[in-house]
Amino acid sequence: MSTRRRIKALEKKAGGSWRVHEFWEKLAAEVRRRRAEILAITPEDLRGAVAAAHDRDVHGPFREFFAVGTGGAFAPWAPSRPAGYLLPRALIEFMLHDDREWWVGHTCGRCGLKVPLLWRSSLDPNPPAELKVFPDCPACGWKTSYHAYSGPDREDGSPFLV
Ligand SMILES: [Zn+2]
Repeated sequence: MSTRRRIKALEKKAGGSWRVHEFWEKLAAEVRRRRAEILAITPEDLRGAVAAAHDRDVHGPFREFFAVGTGGAFAPWAPSRPAGYLLPRALIEFMLHDDREWWVGHTCGRCGLKVPLLWRSSLDPNPPAELKVFPDCPACGWKTSYHAYSGPDREDGSPFLV
């Protein structure tokens, strides 16, 4: 029996269409779309290294940028980027080459770009003195913070939440 007939038989047995297969196809399409979106705004000479890092380990340094169901490299409220926008080289270079423990814990309060923040473990005998990798946004120069993921800062620099 062909695979197509097997699926049809299972659909008939299940009493409806084969929704799991449909779900995985949609998810795979979304993963491909997000990956293409991030690579398109990566500086051209770094695209191969970013794609290779993601291919090597989907849980590696670009996991949060490539994740489906999130804002990717930006907070959900971030304004759209101008044509030709590229992610800052310093950000990509850090994510590719820095071997300290970090997570994408800070966000720019103006453009919404997500940036790394170092981990500090109580078990680390030599913890980093400063957790901020980019206290100022490597794209626009505005300050980065934890709260900015939820919304942009006001023009006077105060968080919109207060
Ligand atoms: Zn910014």
